[in-house]
Amino acid sequence: MQTSFTPDQLADPHVAESESIIRKCVHCGFCTATCPTYVTLGNELDSPRGRIYLIKEMLENDRPADRHTVTHIDRCLSCLACMTTCPSGVHYMHLVDHARAHIEKTYRRPLLDRLTRAVLATVLPHPSRFRAALALARLGRPFAGLLGAFRPLKPFAAMLALAPRTVPPASAASRPASHGPGGARRGRVAILTGCAQPVLDPGINEATIRLLNRLGVEVVVPEGEGCCGALVHHMGREEEALGFARRNVDAWARQIDNGGLDAIVITASGCGTTIKDYGHMLRLDPAYAAKAARVAGLAMDVTEYLSGLDLPAPELRPGLEVAYHSACSMQHGQRITRQPKELLARAGFIVREPREGHICCGSAGTYNILQPEIAARLRDRKVANIEATGAAVIATGNIGCMTQIGSGTSMPIVHTVELLDWAWGGPKPHGIPESVPVLEAAQ
Ligand code: SF4
Ligand code: SF4
Repeated sequence: MQTSFTPDQLADPHVAESESIIRKCVHCGFCTATCPTYVTLGNELDSPRGRIYLIKEMLENDRPADRHTVTHIDRCLSCLACMTTCPSGVHYMHLVDHARAHIEKTYRRPLLDRLTRAVLATVLPHPSRFRAALALARLGRPFAGLLGAFRPLKPFAAMLALAPRTVPPASAASRPASHGPGGARRGRVAILTGCAQPVLDPGINEATIRLLNRLGVEVVVPEGEGCCGALVHHMGREEEALGFARRNVDAWARQIDNGGLDAIVITASGCGTTIKDYGHMLRLDPAYAAKAARVAGLAMDVTEYLSGLDLPAPELRPGLEVAYHSACSMQHGQRITRQPKELLARAGFIVREPREGHICCGSAGTYNILQPEIAARLRDRKVANIEATGAAVIATGNIGCMTQIGSGTSMPIVHTVELLDWAWGGPKPHGIPESVPVLEAAQ
């Protein structure tokens, strides 16, 4: 795509990067077929190609974002299906990140939109605030229908609808500690405890620590780590996102320097995509660029790390049919497609792949709160495809997808690592009913 940025504009490294991304686009339109918002809404401006034109126009003319552009950029899920499809290697993720930061700096949103975003950015990244907010949400739940009747209040209705009815107690697995293996040590990793996940489902990190310990890996929960920054990053709140990134880089760099790390293990693929991008996010910060690149190079999804280990035979081969939902951040953001399915199959599960597996479930960080109508349509489409597999259980590797899909189906949904922990000697994951048949006995 031809561009007409001036040398002055290109002196800004963010603009220069966006210009080089835009120039790679040959407007072939292949990406439109796999874009969930184009498939759902049928508007070119809600496709990757349409958004690239809008961003180009906004940046080239050096103008503040307007409502028209913001509407279509806000509808983007950042699912990155377009990057998987694009034959020209257009790095849409970095382009839309820049567009969102530009919108945040130059556009004044309506009051309720600002308020919603401020609440999300202030509460979600902090487990104690999020826990308190979920307690309040239980009180507010009866009003969800009323709030949903007014368009500007729909995000608050969506928050109440998505809030779980019960919140598990805080887990010791979230506190800074070192969890050593029982026998000989074959590795040492840090685990990202995260922000929303340990509140909503602490069993995921507990299962990860148990499984890795059983496999001889020491798991460190470093002092000082916190939210990866993805939630605010996707809202264009760049400085806040970089603050979270710097804090984590410092926490993990201390561990690298004191005992060494083989990997930084992540159990939420949305976080993994962002942490793997820390080197890019902090590239212009001389104090952090090198450290961030080092940390990003160690980041691994838990299934990626497990696939590199020499695993013993599982203790139990449950033989359950599992519908594997590959989160967008897993398959498009990190290009991890093979490992989770291979591990599940190796553990004895029968893996079923839903149709249209490349299309987002509508979770996408805070998207299901900020764009509840599109998110609900995508969820229903995803749930129909998953239920059509006839599987007994859904497995996925991202807490956001678990919450979103779980809100639309009665099928049990668990994290992939919880099933792997079960097969390799851990407890049966919470949520799998006793009535689910275990087809094959332990070997
Ligand atoms: S597939 Fe790639 S090159 Fe083609 S229109 Fe989409 S972004 Fe541009
Ligand atoms: S990130 Fe997803 S929703 Fe956004 S343009 Fe790409 S395919 Fe469409």
